[in-house]
Amino acid sequence: MVKLYVSDLSVNYETSSGDVHALENVDFQLEDNESIGIAGESGCGKSTLGLSIIKMIQGGKIIAGEITLGEKSILNMTESEFDDIIRWKEISMVFQGAMNSLDPVFTIEQQFDQILKQHNSTDDFKKTMHNSLDTVSLSHSILKKYPHELSGGMKQRVVIAMALLLEPKFVIADEPTTALDVLIQAQIINLLKSLKKKDVSIMLISHDLAILSEIVEKIGIMYGGKMVEFGSSTEIYREPKHPYTKGLLDSIPTLRGEKKLKFIPGNPPNLLSTGSGCRFFDRCPEAMDKCKKNPPKIKTDSGYVLCWLYE
Ligand code: SF4
Repeated sequence: MVKLYVSDLSVNYETSSGDVHALENVDFQLEDNESIGIAGESGCGKSTLGLSIIKMIQGGKIIAGEITLGEKSILNMTESEFDDIIRWKEISMVFQGAMNSLDPVFTIEQQFDQILKQHNSTDDFKKTMHNSLDTVSLSHSILKKYPHELSGGMKQRVVIAMALLLEPKFVIADEPTTALDVLIQAQIINLLKSLKKKDVSIMLISHDLAILSEIVEKIGIMYGGKMVEFGSSTEIYREPKHPYTKGLLDSIPTLRGEKKLKFIPGNPPNLLSTGSGCRFFDRCPEAMDKCKKNPPKIKTDSGYVLCWLYE
């Protein structure tokens, strides 16, 4: 297991209209044996956060902050140091929509082979591939297959097996259950739970708080590029503090529909011009005059919340 510290992380994307402030002052800490779920609506910075940790932000730039894995300061490493020591070996990522990224003209074995060669693995390739397939409960015979011969759930397992090939201790999984039916979603959730038992920490990115609370110990809620609430999954699920977190939880349907579903009116903020006040101001049912100023970071039992209500 790993200790991961992210502090004051800010990331911009340069566009022809100006800088998009995709992440601003994001903070969280994971101790040994902890996994984290990152939730929030589309465009809030969830994937940018994952890509920052594995240093693969296309077109974006980390402009401030610190990321530490164990004793290693990731952002101070050169690209080749990071590639040699960390990427895929200590931290790997299952990208969003990854099951559609398998190359249709190569067998699974050929695609696994390319990764092992690229990262100069010295292990017995066949044995490494078999171990990885065993972890995701796929038959070894799948190595001879082409992607079009596999179901959606099998392809998702294959990309998770790829991420596990070099036995990383921290896996970032970006929306790994999206576009899968509920039965396959349940299988992937069980697979992620079983990885945790094998000492793999997970960062699970999802808009689905119910799925996150099943798997992770910590949850970070992102809104408009900020982590507006961070804490234990129990505290966030049972006693949410930030009005946005409450809105997210109120919009989860129940099985029998006994609860009236709510939605959060309005649109996410424009990250080209974020201003200095609370980014949820225009949509917040509890907004006050002072919320036009940057909200304070208030300590909670297990983390923090960015909101003037708890000053
Ligand atoms: Fe709402 Fe103000 Fe809290 Fe922002 S700081 S979430 S506007 S109450």
